[in-house]
Parts: sequence; C-alpha cells; structure tokens
Amino acid sequence: MTNGWETIIGLEIHAQLSTESKIFCGCSTRFGDEPNSNTCPVCLGLPGALPVLNRRAVELGARAALSLGLQINNKSIFSRKNYFYPDLPKGYQISQFDKPFSANGELEIMTAERDQAGHPVEWLPKTVAITRLHLEEDAGKNVHEGLPDIDRYSYIDLNRAGTPLAEIVTEPDFRTAWEAYDYVNHVRRTLQWVGASEADMEKGNLRCEANVSVRKVGDEKFGTKVELKNLNSVRFMHRAIEFEVARQIGVLEAGGSLHQETRLWDERAGETRVMRSKEEAHDYRYFPEPDLPPLVVSDEFVEQVRKEMPELPEARRRRFMDQYGLSYSDSAQLTSERSLADYYEAAVEASGNPRTAANWIRSELLRELESAGLYAGSSPIPAAELGALVKSIDEGKISGKQAKDVLVEMFRTGKSAAEIIEEQGLVQLSDSGEIEKIIDEVLAASPGQLESYRAGKESLFGFFVGQVMKASKGKANPKVVNETLKAKLG
Ligand SMILES: [Zn+2]
Repeated sequence: MTNGWETIIGLEIHAQLSTESKIFCGCSTRFGDEPNSNTCPVCLGLPGALPVLNRRAVELGARAALSLGLQINNKSIFSRKNYFYPDLPKGYQISQFDKPFSANGELEIMTAERDQAGHPVEWLPKTVAITRLHLEEDAGKNVHEGLPDIDRYSYIDLNRAGTPLAEIVTEPDFRTAWEAYDYVNHVRRTLQWVGASEADMEKGNLRCEANVSVRKVGDEKFGTKVELKNLNSVRFMHRAIEFEVARQIGVLEAGGSLHQETRLWDERAGETRVMRSKEEAHDYRYFPEPDLPPLVVSDEFVEQVRKEMPELPEARRRRFMDQYGLSYSDSAQLTSERSLADYYEAAVEASGNPRTAANWIRSELLRELESAGLYAGSSPIPAAELGALVKSIDEGKISGKQAKDVLVEMFRTGKSAAEIIEEQGLVQLSDSGEIEKIIDEVLAASPGQLESYRAGKESLFGFFVGQVMKASKGKANPKVVNETLKAKLG
C-alpha cells in the first residue's frame, strides 16, 4: 500500500508436466535435441493428423491439481484457442476453456514482507484462491539468435510444440509483490515435490505472468489491469511488479489513465514496456476440439493418484515442527526440497537427536553441498553416516570442533565417520582422572595466574580452560574440563 493505493495481483503459471512424450502424440519431450527432430504430423499440424491424449499427462495434471488444493472435474472439454503465430503450426492451440480439468482451489501458503535488507519480517499463512488448473499444449519456439544468417531470417523450432502444460490461474488475491513471490515459490516447490513438473524457470519449464492493477483503498471496483510477461525468474517477477505498481500510481496521480495491455519486463532497463493491447477471451474464438472426446476421469482414478502422492511439503514442515521441535525457519529450510527432507528424517533415525541433526545439516552439510554444487539426494555423505557423526558427538566420543573436520573429510573421501575418527586418532578425552592430571600440570606451570585467580580475578578461569585444552591437543572434553577445574579451584 502506497499513499492510499492498494495493489491487486493475480497470477498465471504455466508448468510443463514431466512426461516423456508430448500431450497428443508420441514425440519425445527431451530438452536440447536437434531442432525439429522431435516432430510428427500431429505436432506439426499436418492436415488429417489426429491427436490422442497422453494418459500420463492426465495423471501428472491430477497430481499438480491435488497438490495445490484444486478439485478435479469428472468431465472436462478440450477447446481450440484460435490465433496465428509462426510457432503455432495448426493456427490454434488445444487448450481448455469453459470446462477445465480442475477448479475451485484453496491453497494455504506462508508469506512474509521483507525488510530493507531483504530479510523476512514475519512468516504468516495466507489462503490463495486458485480459479482453475487446466491442461493444454505448448507452442514451438521462434529462434532469433545463434545462427549465421540470423540477421536476415528467423527460424522456428517445433520440438516444444505439443509439450503438455498445466496452466494455473489464481483469483486476484495478492496485495504485494512479496506475496506473489512466495506463492510462485510455493507452487514451484510443490510441483517438483510431487514429481508433476521440474518447475525450473531457467529452463523455461515454469513460466509466470502477473496481472497487476491498483485502486484507491476502499474502492470496490478494480482498476485497469495490465498483464506482465517475460518474467524469467521469481526475482524478475518481483521487480517487474514493484516497477509496474509505481508506474500505474504515477500515471493516475498525474491525472492520466491506464490502458488494458500486455507489457514486457525488460530486466536490463529495469522497466516494463508495451507489447500489445490485451486480448479478451472472445478474440480467440474458442470452440470445442472436434477431434478429442470429453476427458472423463473417475473418482477412483483421482483417489488412486491421491494415494500415490507423497506427504506434501507444507504438511511435512508442520510435522517437523510438532514431532521434532524445530523452529519455523529450520523446518522450512529442511522441507525446501523433498530429498533434503528425506535426508533429514533418515539422519534423525540414525542419530536419535532431531535438533542436533537439523543443526548439522543446515550449517555444515548444506555449506559443503552448496560449494560442490550438489543437493541432498546426491550427497557423498549418506544420511545414516551423518546421523552416526551426530551420535559420536552426543556420546562424547569426539568434540563438536573435531566433528566439523571429520565431516569435511567424510565429504571429501566418502569414508564413514568411524573410519576417519579411527584413522586420525580423534578420540575425545573424557576420562576425568586423566583430565585431572593435565589440570594439575597446568596449574603447577602457572603459579602467578593461580594466585591472582584465588585473589579474586575470576576471569582467569577461561585462561586455565584454554591451557588445558591446549595441553590435551584439543582432545579433552570441554564439559569435563570445566567441571573438574571448577571443583579443583573451589
Ligand atoms: Zn509429434
């Protein structure tokens, strides 16, 4: 909200469903193949070719819908969306219009505004209404760079034409760019989690568009809506919305008026610019696709898909808080990705210590993974081994400080914690008799400090601890050292 203005944002996400073949033909969906090699009469739109619906696309669409809280319609209709564009050989896209695959979604996300430094202020739940999730085919790609005569020609690659998409449309429920940002991240994580989509914005298999308008606080009527495209990352989307909101308020406050249009985000210039005036649904002359029967899914089918789904990320995050006593930020980070959540739970089982396992994964392990460019599922340290390391600390076999070095070595060599502890002779000294002996030596060697301490200079306690640790070459158990020293110094 800026000076009495309220921002209204609705989002559309296109997510590529992770099928091996296209939605209406058997061509491969593999990314990066020779241009136009994965094509056939159906996806080239040759006359007389007939589409056949890919069952796997329906299953993954159902996973996506259920994971986002949508209701799946038993019957939905494919429609032709007519428009001309060079990357659309048929002259229409097969999509869904008035009878979509799923609708009426209610999704709870966690969202937070950020302070000046970009840190979340307070995470709060927000319910987002998802209007619909429907199935459709993707278009091909126009190529404008990378070929020798590209200054004179544009090329078309139809490998992507016919790739299955789920289009997910929300109600205009977002009031800030951060809410939109957190929603897109939620959807991205969820679709990856349930295996419906890779949802990788960099590869273009998750794309989003934002409908942005502003109105005076208290107004019932929505302002003129502008559609933002070319939002190639969540960060770009956030910046584009912020820019657009300021632009719209600026125009209105100067007494101007806004046009319903589509604007492109130009990341380099840091601004949005007009692409075209916005089409309305009736511009597309939708009509039912005569070559495809209605899509009928039974309740049993939906139940089967539901049964095969893993525990969803938000449910798992809440369970981590309840069951393991983790904080919000710990549990959110550990459920940011499914393989990490699995890793954590396996480490908890092996160590019997949920809190310490969480700390070690969040600080030490993730740092190593990040710098090696790996994720939890491909960690060179198996979860059970990380659990074993945590257990060694809990049992007093090695100190926390030693364990840090052991972890780095485990990561580097793939050896077990026990092997490295043995090899390096890293056994923590916890025997109070032996520690007492070292303490006696240290005290005997520092008569001046001992005198000062006894005369009341208690800050010297730390000095003695340091001397003992040094004399034990870092092996002494600090807890035992502290206790024994206290007893000795009385
Ligand atoms: Zn094909």
